Amino acid sequence: MVQLVVLREAQAVGTGVLVGMIVSGAHFVLERLGFEGFRVLEARGICRRFIPDCKRPLLQHPEGNLWTVFLPYVLLGTAIARCWYGDMATRMELMPQGLLPTFCFLWIGMVLHDTWFFLVHRLMHSVKILYRRIHQGHHENTAGVTALGTSTGEAADVGLCFVAFHFLVFLYLYRQPSWNLPTVAVYTFFEEVVNITGHCGYKTPLWLHALLTGGVGLTPWAATSKTHYIHHVDCRYNRALYFTWWDRLFETHTDRHPLIKEDLKRTSSFANLMNDLSRFWAANITSRLASVR
Ligand SMILES: [Zn+2]
Ligand SMILES: [Zn+2]
Repeated sequence: MVQLVVLREAQAVGTGVLVGMIVSGAHFVLERLGFEGFRVLEARGICRRFIPDCKRPLLQHPEGNLWTVFLPYVLLGTAIARCWYGDMATRMELMPQGLLPTFCFLWIGMVLHDTWFFLVHRLMHSVKILYRRIHQGHHENTAGVTALGTSTGEAADVGLCFVAFHFLVFLYLYRQPSWNLPTVAVYTFFEEVVNITGHCGYKTPLWLHALLTGGVGLTPWAATSKTHYIHHVDCRYNRALYFTWWDRLFETHTDRHPLIKEDLKRTSSFANLMNDLSRFWAANITSRLASVR
């Protein structure tokens, strides 16, 4: 009996390690592909960098990146495996659902994760010790365009911001009479893509933004590729990931930053317009005053 329990636990840990390897490997490939993809789109004039003269280290901590994602997902994988050998596998549906239910799952998942992410992320920026111990490493990856920038020390950050939420999703699914694997895969994929896009530092046209967010990015006040990038330029702003609702509510939202060239241009053209107007009125008033005298 004891041997059977030990064997089951070992089997669960083994599955957890396998899950960790699959997720970290997939993350590694997707992140690299995402950054390289944006470089190709930039070369074709489809996307442009928010800060073109910013350094471009591109690849940082490739090994650390693997470990950071691997470690927390081993824990989640082990937890899933222990239930999997119960009856969760038998309640799994493999046939894809229709577009609408898949989109609803994706949208609701992103709304809920956005709330979770905002709360945890805000806490990390508000409590100094949490910031220094857990989140600071992530902000070493500043405005430089960098793939695989996650170092090993950030496992707790990934664990709290993402894996803990995935554990809640898993608990929800565990309690359902059935659950759909392709729908969960779609959610996980777009969550990953939105996260990668937010770190690339490229302005995306609307069609690409809609594509990369699975359509969720067309929701009013959804975040864009610029939103999280501004957070890395200036961490006082934009602590949510998919939408800007929470940041607007807590007055930490901005969609402009002086370090971003297009905003500078917008500021300077606006400033120029104001200057022109003030010069025009000043000239008019002066000439009228002169005629009155
Ligand atoms: Zn980030
Ligand atoms: Zn942050």
